[in-house]
Amino acid sequence: MRSPAASPTSLYSVSSGHVRTDPSSTTRLDLMKTFNSVLSAYGTSIFEEMNLLARRFDALNLGQGAPDSDGPEDVVRLAAQALCDNSNQYPPLMGLPSLRQAVAVHDRRFYGLDISPDQVLVTAGATEGLAAAILALIEPGDEVVLFEPLYDSYLPMVRRAGGIPRLVRLSPPDWSLPRAQVEAAFSDKTKLVILNSPMNPAAKVFSQDELSFLAALIERFDAYALCDEVYEHLVFPPHAHTPLMGFPGMGDRCLRVGSAGKTLSLTGWKVGYLIAAPALLAPVTKAHQFLLFTVPPNLQTAVAYGLGKEDAFFDDLLAGMTEKRDRLAAGLEKIGFSLLPSQGSYFINVDIRPLGLDLDDIGFCHHMAEKAGVSAIPVSAFYGGGNARGGGGAPSHLVRFCFAKTDQRIDEGIARMAACYCG
Ligand code: PMP
Ligand code: GLN
Repeated sequence: MRSPAASPTSLYSVSSGHVRTDPSSTTRLDLMKTFNSVLSAYGTSIFEEMNLLARRFDALNLGQGAPDSDGPEDVVRLAAQALCDNSNQYPPLMGLPSLRQAVAVHDRRFYGLDISPDQVLVTAGATEGLAAAILALIEPGDEVVLFEPLYDSYLPMVRRAGGIPRLVRLSPPDWSLPRAQVEAAFSDKTKLVILNSPMNPAAKVFSQDELSFLAALIERFDAYALCDEVYEHLVFPPHAHTPLMGFPGMGDRCLRVGSAGKTLSLTGWKVGYLIAAPALLAPVTKAHQFLLFTVPPNLQTAVAYGLGKEDAFFDDLLAGMTEKRDRLAAGLEKIGFSLLPSQGSYFINVDIRPLGLDLDDIGFCHHMAEKAGVSAIPVSAFYGGGNARGGGGAPSHLVRFCFAKTDQRIDEGIARMAACYCG
């Protein structure tokens, strides 16, 4: 069975701006002016699509990268209290001073970065920070170097800004940086590199050596780096997280993006932050002011407190996730999948071929949701942009599982898969 959903359309009907799903019927919309062609060409996010599939088949969701349990209760209570006790009017454009200060302190504490609060912009999750940076820096015709497999929001935003993507493909199972290809992707037109470490979905942590290599290219070609580091606190030893921003010459070329969603296990809050030298932050702030302007004040107050939590909090987060990773990995291995290394993030990828089914990754994820009652994410969705599904030659044998789940859910997911796929 091949993929039952190989087209970029979604499970429910989102108008795709005259990208007709049924060529035999003409609707009133087909006779009206077209929408923006770049964004209209994309389907619904693979995460939402697989969530809907999970709901339809009452499947256990091991797909979307979100923890089962909320982050620290004192942080949540503080947000609730701030809602009642503090002002609920627009906070300052760049964020509450307390949160900007907390981010600066966090970056000094964990990475020794010499950041001042005026180098911090509070955003609506990492997603808005990434979009604002891309819109602020890219002029039509600028080239942007990106690494496949890539997180779903990068390419649509680069293309919408008129940027020309220069995609460099990393190969499983070790996803190491193909240096000659990376170098060939840079040119005098390179404006920006988008780097995600730990990398979603590959679960790769870029090595010091790889980062040094990239830093040298960024300097040589006078480029900027947008560093998506949302999984900064989910890096499994012996690997360690080192922001590219701390490398020589990178302080005024890097925009470092973080997310309280991941660091505090509160993904629904959509509070993120972007750290950059003041001159680089200024145009990003302009984009932010037109996109959003501000982020809810009570959430900012609570995140400011949360980022300052004691070392034990961050240690426990990592220890807990390491245990979950190992728990899920052991179960997946028993079922017969071949596992890829997971160095960081919420994710572990498996090669589905040893199961011997005649299914590609998309077909397998549909099969597993329906027949086993477990949902995961096909890795081919992270190629070619959003779920426009797979640039040519993208691997079609890898599936991403999220282990940021309760032990009970992990065990139940493994039991369901075992019942379906083992004998
Ligand atoms: N970047 C990566 C690599 C992600 O996995 C995610 C999803 N958590 C985001 C950005 C978006 O983060 P946020 O929910 O804070 O917008
Ligand atoms: N980052 C999450 C993941 O990779 C999903 C975020 C979203 O649903 N947009 O699963």
